Amino acid sequence: MPKAIVVEKTGSPSVMKWRDSEVGRPGKGEVTVRAKAIGVNFIDIYQRSGLYPMPLPFTPGGELCGEVEAVGTGVSGFKIGDRVATGTAGAGCYAEIRNIDADKLVKVPKEIPNDIAAAMMLQGMTVQFLIRQVYRVKKGDTILIHAAAGGVGTILCQWAAHLGATVIGTVGSPGKARLAKAHGCDYPIIYSRENFVDRVRKITKGEMLPVVYDSIGKATWPASLDCLQQRGLFVTFGNASGPIPPIDPLTLSSKGSLVMTRPTLFHFADTPERMRRMAGDVMKVIKSGAVKIEVNHKYSLREAARAHRDLAARKTTGSIILEP
Ligand code: NDP
Repeated sequence: MPKAIVVEKTGSPSVMKWRDSEVGRPGKGEVTVRAKAIGVNFIDIYQRSGLYPMPLPFTPGGELCGEVEAVGTGVSGFKIGDRVATGTAGAGCYAEIRNIDADKLVKVPKEIPNDIAAAMMLQGMTVQFLIRQVYRVKKGDTILIHAAAGGVGTILCQWAAHLGATVIGTVGSPGKARLAKAHGCDYPIIYSRENFVDRVRKITKGEMLPVVYDSIGKATWPASLDCLQQRGLFVTFGNASGPIPPIDPLTLSSKGSLVMTRPTLFHFADTPERMRRMAGDVMKVIKSGAVKIEVNHKYSLREAARAHRDLAARKTTGSIILEP
């Protein structure tokens, strides 16, 4: 019997149980995929802890690379043995084997190994919409990226640098500062030691920034607003330190007619065509060498709780993979 991580009630990492998980034949439009590598993302923590409510019981995990084992009716474009990946199939990826809607899958080119493919889908497409769609980063821009040494952060820094931007990044330790620097972050700031608004003011000679990418939320949002130019864009896309409280629109006005957006991958990769175009962009920057996906931590699938503890405790850098 195949196994999966199952959450029956939300809470601490220990609510993730290793259980038998029967997988039937793929339904219409579905493909059965045997996982080879599974990505761990902060959204998995929000879902497990209950911050993002899920129907119970559920299997966490929104990102994997695997091999097609069976193909349902009405599916074209995939056959048994194909190497495929997803970052938009929703929860259910912390499993040895699962059925997935074929519209949520892409084929993985042979140059991209399983662990990179698993780590690049959700995080890579997130970076794609952040810097190619929400705000189009261009040569000459100076931008701020929080958690610059994280999974999304290391991809964001590299891709933005590749587009010609000057990248300022916040990180939690000197080791993370070195890692961010090696991945395109021109000015890593250790925000527990330095005031990042003051540093941004110094680096930009008072000009401040057209855009801030903030995935940390509660701990950083007020200062993030202070890093923006007049009419600058505040992109709040995560809550690693907790959700941002309600913001009075007059705050945005008084700080310079700022624009705030709270985007989510699923509203950008919302059709198979758009998802595959975004995934194609990600593969292109990876194959060109402009972006390297750093898989810095691997755990066995049944040890998912340990991966969650380490991610939440800020012990990880780059991407995290579970091995089935
Ligand atoms: P990361 O690898 O970036 O890990 C989170 C990092 O946040 C930590 O390493 C830590 O870096 C920083 N952090 C700051 N404060 C805290 C805190 N109190 N607790 C824990 N971490 C903290 O994770 P991911 O790459 O998986 O995700 C990054 C962010 O992107 C998350 O907020 C996630 O929700 C968001 N996201 C949003 C998507 C969307 O569609 N909107 C899609 C995908 C991801 P440091 O020590 O350097 O401060």
